[in-house]
Amino acid sequence: MSVQPKRYMKFLLACVLFFLLTPSMPRASAGEENISAISNRITREQVMSMPGNHDAIHVSDHVSMPPLTTEEERIILHKGTEMPFSGRYWKETASGTYICRRCGAPLYRSDDKFDSGCGWPSFDDEIPGAVRRLPDADGQRTEITCAACGAHLGHVFEGEHLTRKNTRHCVNSLALTLIKEGQNTSDAKKNADNGVKTPNLPCSGVAYFAGGCFWGVEDAFSKTAGVCDAVSGYAGGSTVSPDYEQVCTGRTGHAETVRVSFDPARTSFEELARTFFEIHDPTQVDRQGPDIGTQYRSVIFYTDKAQKESAEKLIARLRELGYDVATQLVPFTSFYPAEDYHQDFAARTGRGACHMRVPRFELPARPTHVLLP
Ligand SMILES: [Zn+2]
Repeated sequence: MSVQPKRYMKFLLACVLFFLLTPSMPRASAGEENISAISNRITREQVMSMPGNHDAIHVSDHVSMPPLTTEEERIILHKGTEMPFSGRYWKETASGTYICRRCGAPLYRSDDKFDSGCGWPSFDDEIPGAVRRLPDADGQRTEITCAACGAHLGHVFEGEHLTRKNTRHCVNSLALTLIKEGQNTSDAKKNADNGVKTPNLPCSGVAYFAGGCFWGVEDAFSKTAGVCDAVSGYAGGSTVSPDYEQVCTGRTGHAETVRVSFDPARTSFEELARTFFEIHDPTQVDRQGPDIGTQYRSVIFYTDKAQKESAEKLIARLRELGYDVATQLVPFTSFYPAEDYHQDFAARTGRGACHMRVPRFELPARPTHVLLP
């Protein structure tokens, strides 16, 4: 990825200012108490390749991420900033996937890494849905955190014109662990066969489904085999970081959407998309039962060509069966997790689990669509 040289000096100056203005003392974080234990796991082989002392690691096929060092805690939990040009990844060029040092969630691909000259690893894109953006306590910058566990990663900047995507995720090396391509040979082979660049780490699969009220969709997917996590949120609109009230007006363009993280070894996008078509009525336009409005429209936000083709195939099959499918196929751009009180709503309250499964792929639609002799 090339850097436009004209901007370089100005940018270096900005980097120095950024570092000087960043508090080096640990400071309290409002969300810190909410960071809960994480169940994402990576393989032993991957952990053993990480820097640091592994004596304490339980030897099995799958192990948790190693405990954080004091310095990692300062960065990840207390929102600290490491010295520029000091981390292990700022000039790293190896191919692979950068995962969260705290929970192991895949965050960035090496393809999106570029040399910003800033002294911290810089990426102009993230793995879809992996990184959460929050207004920084300083009122100026935008903080980035791991969407899975809330670990502080660094900050994101836009409008610097350093790369075509015009975005720079400025990430502390200490918040990341690089899983180099080919490090897990079986995964590397599977990925090569599928043309996928991300290693098949557990829970590295992601899919985005909008099918009416997200409470019910989230509830249905959270009970589906192979799903690691289902999160209610908003996607498909233009408002950045919308809240529920804004989305309810129907004017943000967002649809209530569920981000489904899954283990590619246990299920597939196609399997999940099939479930999606059976737990909501894909023939309803801009509504789902009593919930009316564009925020309840049916959408699959696909993250790559394979997901798109897979969804097209299922829609074609449903049309053959007589269903007038209204589901939109839209390229994924961004996902904003909904407020905490919407998460696990059906499981917590016993309400909102309205998405009954109808085996549409085995049932022709309406008899009127069947040509009788
Ligand atoms: Zn994490």
